[in-house]
Amino acid sequence: MTTKTTTVPAEHQSMFDAVLARLDVAAKIYGLSDEVATILKNPQKQVKVSLPIMMDNGTMRVFEGFRTVHSTILGPSKGGIRYAMDVCDDEVKALSAWMTFKCAVANLPYGGGKGGIKCNPREMSVGELERLTKAYTTAMADVFGVDKDIPAPDMGTSGREMAWLLDAYNKTHRGNFPGVTTGKPVGLGGSLGRDAATGRGVMISTLAALAKMKLDPKKVTAAVQGFGNVGSHASRLLNEQGIKICAIGDHTATLWNENGIDIKAAIEFVKTNNNVLKGFKGGVEIKPEELLTAKVDILVPAALQNVITGEVAQNINAKLIIEGANGPTTPEADPILKDKGIIVVPDILANGGGVTVSYFEWVQNKYGRYWPEAEVNEKHDASMNAAFETVWKNAEQYNTTMRMGAYITALQKVESGIKAKGWY
Ligand code: NAD
Repeated sequence: MTTKTTTVPAEHQSMFDAVLARLDVAAKIYGLSDEVATILKNPQKQVKVSLPIMMDNGTMRVFEGFRTVHSTILGPSKGGIRYAMDVCDDEVKALSAWMTFKCAVANLPYGGGKGGIKCNPREMSVGELERLTKAYTTAMADVFGVDKDIPAPDMGTSGREMAWLLDAYNKTHRGNFPGVTTGKPVGLGGSLGRDAATGRGVMISTLAALAKMKLDPKKVTAAVQGFGNVGSHASRLLNEQGIKICAIGDHTATLWNENGIDIKAAIEFVKTNNNVLKGFKGGVEIKPEELLTAKVDILVPAALQNVITGEVAQNINAKLIIEGANGPTTPEADPILKDKGIIVVPDILANGGGVTVSYFEWVQNKYGRYWPEAEVNEKHDASMNAAFETVWKNAEQYNTTMRMGAYITALQKVESGIKAKGWY
């Protein structure tokens, strides 16, 4: 059986168009040169591969794999690998551009890249996933590299896939290159603190925003969409700061509890329940869309893109949105949220904790010395707080939103890099 050629799914608006729409608005506010804007609208490299895999039942399937290097202006391209059925060239292109901006906002010496395989990992066996990951790595052997293009986990992948990727890369290149990927298991050169880092960054961004809004974390409530890597760690860490989490949800269940959900119990439950919330009794079941418009102070979308549409935005009750996911808000929703006075801490700032600790992992791999978790967390928190302040100042100076403040922060850095290197 062969999978069909991927086009942009009809139900999804082009994500790359959403990137370009924001880029155009930010370029105008900031006064970006046309030359730099043109460069950033065209990813540097796009690779698509076909991956024939023998399935456990003896049938042959050919999967589509993608990797886009959006920019290497500020350093090697950095970005995760996603396993999901909606992976396509448009999505990977958009996510790679966001990585360029995210790394620049986080002040890391990296450009942006992203990859993915169109597949449903939940319906595949461990053996099939290992073969697929290793086939993808071998096909991308000339794209990846410690100082060239460095993958990491994203939706549908984790340290397990990064360990397989490292193994295939090492065998292809006949050596040991732990820095070729980040988000690895700690025993293979991964960093302590990496697993929780994106959720930790969400927590630090939330505290920074609450301080600006003069709100006490112990007196506010939150709803978190997604209970995977980002959503579960974010829920736990926000809860540890005294924030009451009244709604959580994943693709199997959405729960509400006005007294606050027992997040530790939810995490324990999913560990022994195939990683899903279905069956957890810590709240009443609500419709998935009700989570986004729930009566809470903080909304954390930490699952999918394009969930906060113009229509949803009209009905949002939260005062603060922290974008744990990449691209959860459509461009149409931006002005609606602004008019409603809702502060949005954008993805390219709020979920930058993951790539920040990925950078620390890469540094530790190069250095050959490993830091205690407390040191990783301390460096992470300082870096996230500094990024938040820079974005906040830019938003104030240009009299615009946090999203535009973040884009402007990124554009300033990338533009100066391009101009310093010259136009060739
Ligand atoms: P994950 O695969 O670990 O978890 C995804 C979660 O989303 C799961 O709980 C899943 O059930 C849920 N989900 C899927 N479909 C849903 C639906 N229709 N409604 C509600 N929930 C649904 O993925 P992750 O790594 O947590 O990534 C989540 C988002 O965060 C993605 O946008 C990803 O790009 C972004 N992100 C991840 C990282 C990272 O370090 N993992 C870093 C930055 C950004």
